Amino acid sequence: SFGTLASLLRAHGAERPDHVALIDGDHALTYAAFDRRIDRAAAALQRDGVAPGDRVAIVGRTSIDYLVVMLATLRAGAVVVPLAPSSTSDALAAMVADAAPRHMFFDSATDREFGAIDHPRARRVVMESAEFDDWLGATNAAPVEPTIDPGAPFNIIYSSGTTGVPKGIVQSHAMRWQHILRGRVTGYAPDAVTLISTPLYSNTTLVSVVPALAHGGTLVLMAKFDAGRFLSLAEQYRVTHAMLVPVQYQRLMDFPDFDRFDLSAFRMKTCTSAPFSAALKAEVLRRWPGGLVEIYGMTEGGGTLTLAAHLYPDKLHTVGKPVEGHVVRLIDDAGREVAQGEVGEVVGHSPAMMTHYLNHPGKTRDAEWFDADGRRYIRTGDIGRFDADGFLTLLDRKKDMIISGGFNIYPSDLEAVLMQHPDVADAAVVGVPSRTWGETPVGFVTPAGPDAPDAVRVRQWVADRVGKTQRLSDLLIVDELPRSAIGKVLKRELRDRYLLNHP
Ligand code: ATP
Ligand code: MG
Repeated sequence: SFGTLASLLRAHGAERPDHVALIDGDHALTYAAFDRRIDRAAAALQRDGVAPGDRVAIVGRTSIDYLVVMLATLRAGAVVVPLAPSSTSDALAAMVADAAPRHMFFDSATDREFGAIDHPRARRVVMESAEFDDWLGATNAAPVEPTIDPGAPFNIIYSSGTTGVPKGIVQSHAMRWQHILRGRVTGYAPDAVTLISTPLYSNTTLVSVVPALAHGGTLVLMAKFDAGRFLSLAEQYRVTHAMLVPVQYQRLMDFPDFDRFDLSAFRMKTCTSAPFSAALKAEVLRRWPGGLVEIYGMTEGGGTLTLAAHLYPDKLHTVGKPVEGHVVRLIDDAGREVAQGEVGEVVGHSPAMMTHYLNHPGKTRDAEWFDADGRRYIRTGDIGRFDADGFLTLLDRKKDMIISGGFNIYPSDLEAVLMQHPDVADAAVVGVPSRTWGETPVGFVTPAGPDAPDAVRVRQWVADRVGKTQRLSDLLIVDELPRSAIGKVLKRELRDRYLLNHP
């Protein structure tokens, strides 16, 4: 039956008061103390006039106070709007204007950086400070807890903007409840210790934070990922669960002392949000105890697929199969379903779909697809193909696909080839306009060693391994690929940078 995260936490506080809920550096908070602090913050929000349905924005690094504010917002029946501190001022101002929050929380760094950002309806408070304790107030007044409708919004997450202007994705309590139910499969339980090292404003992070807390486990917080620190925390707290993005797995595998750490308590690692190569999955399976599950999905929800990599070693090149209750289909440009084995855009239906994009009914409609029975699906903008066993291989994002001289080129194919070059550490391929071909692929690589590889030779090396139509028109050696805080390569930025220098 439907419950809410805030009420589950109240139950944990009563049943296991001394069990540790949160660890952040030297600070640890028991479930009883966490629950009391949530109560005080919820009462303070209500004292400030926050009513059910109002929005509460949080702009800060991962901390105990961040989670207190988040849960207090939910307990007051209000909507959490976690915003990325890595945003530019303009982008943050646009999201605040769009979300129209009633309250805004910052940490001292984001308060300084975004001091000018305000909303006429909103009150500002700085977390992790004396100001925050003053704001909580001295009283132990209990908040009034409204009944929560399962369809009511839990949070609004702004899309990462990888492919366009961020949109406010409205996720309901019912959607999060699905994540809580699925958390049982992943093994979240009171004795689970989950290391959180991706930022809290990302759905990727909430997909593990919500079930980990809902099932009464312990969270170890890391505001900034660092491979060495991650490994020492994992060893020290006998961490059992972690959700990481592919670039973090890569950094951990490349960390010289990786094999010296005791990671034997690990039960389950998950990975999502960007392509995770078969080679990297295999290496993680070989060197790191416990299961490894790749998740494919998006903040908008729709069909989620998972690949239990430890169970299907011969399917590592895929993102797995739809999880129970999820329907995933592939459609062509005209919106017709493609035949089995054909390539198409991934669309998904599930109990965990977003309700809508905030303030954008047109964009919401564009994101929807309906089957013959009138069932609603969300379009992913990703291109894939099912194999005969029902496992999905992702080819690329539709917007990143390059059409060159009438041929479709998937940048991810070229990236996979580039990555096999011994002198290449990381690679990205984007399409740029070409007078002859319409569009043509250009590569960016980072060197694997101290010496930069020869661009002309690497390009030739690729040309020897791909079809004639797939050859790179140019290759640039760069120190680093631009990535979002959640580890996605920012292809728009690469394309813009290239066009600026090669008009
Ligand atoms: P925007 O929609 O603003 O461009 P975004 O799509 O990057 O942002 P998310 O919802 O965080 O924002 O990411 C979902 C996308 O991430 C998917 O559509 C897919 O392209 C990619 N993705 C997610 N999981 C995987 C995975 N396991 N393998 C490859 N790509 C993945
Ligand atoms: Mg998207």
